[in-house]
Amino acid sequence: METDPYQLIEGMTIAGLAVGANQGYIYLRSEYPVAHKILNKAIERATEAGFLGKNICNSNSDFFLEVRLGAGAYICGEETSLLESLEGKRGMVRAKPPLPAIEGLFGKPTVVNNVLTLGAAASILEQGSETYKDFGMGRSRGTLAVQLAGNVKRGGVIELAFGVTLREVVEDFGGGTYSGRPIRAIQMGGPLGAFLPASQWDTPLDYEAFAAIKAMIGHGGIVVFDDTVDMAAQARFAMEFCAVESCGKCTPCRIGATRGVEVIDRIVNNQDRDNNLILLTDLCDTMELGSLCAMGGMTPFPVRSALTYFAEDFSGESPREN
Ligand code: SF4
Repeated sequence: METDPYQLIEGMTIAGLAVGANQGYIYLRSEYPVAHKILNKAIERATEAGFLGKNICNSNSDFFLEVRLGAGAYICGEETSLLESLEGKRGMVRAKPPLPAIEGLFGKPTVVNNVLTLGAAASILEQGSETYKDFGMGRSRGTLAVQLAGNVKRGGVIELAFGVTLREVVEDFGGGTYSGRPIRAIQMGGPLGAFLPASQWDTPLDYEAFAAIKAMIGHGGIVVFDDTVDMAAQARFAMEFCAVESCGKCTPCRIGATRGVEVIDRIVNNQDRDNNLILLTDLCDTMELGSLCAMGGMTPFPVRSALTYFAEDFSGESPREN
């Protein structure tokens, strides 16, 4: 959006023409003022040049585009809360059905896609689907904009074809940890992604391969931790994040996340450990199976993976040495 806004504008125009829509919205978090300014300028220029607005490129088709700012809620990345927010309401998840494609923004059929998907549309039309399919593996085709962050020497965004392994991304592209210490855990897929130990780093970036190890690629966010990380604290943070960002619509997420923080605290403080470990697993089951959306449904991913792969950090012993 900041370096090639026209790619997104073109992709959205193509999507609009494909579904017969004449109004598009770019929902942008207000924390990205540079992208906001650049997108608005690009929309203005594209409109002046006849690529947006009425009768685009003399095609007898209209397509208008507008940037709307969100107020920073993580949950507004979920399509139905995004629609609520676009309508000027508080970002709360809607029950599905109806799907947004049937009843979306202001009750109208709406296509909601992420920037990566829309950004790929123009090049697929230009170069053909076979060229796009040449990148990737299995059912994961094309490229992914991997966001490499955390304790890593060379962080940033790298566009890679699916199929590269997690180890290659972190070691070859990232150059290992910033601290120079050994990598202990990698979190893949954003704050609701699993924490993976070394035994899993040869997994290729492929949606199915990650699902098979109870992890996810998500939006391609990777966070690297060195061997000083306290994984019980990270599991607690996942529950805390969910408690803070929960939209509050359903009980397993709204209350479960708060109870999750308390249970993890009791475990690491050695209060009735065995029963609290059972309770935490039970709570994760309830959140996973009973939450209305992925926020509550996936918070157990980081918690369970921390418990599975880094159980020693929940022992209540003194924190790991730095
Ligand atoms: S899982 Fe959480 S964020 Fe999703 S609808 Fe329920 S309360 Fe809202």
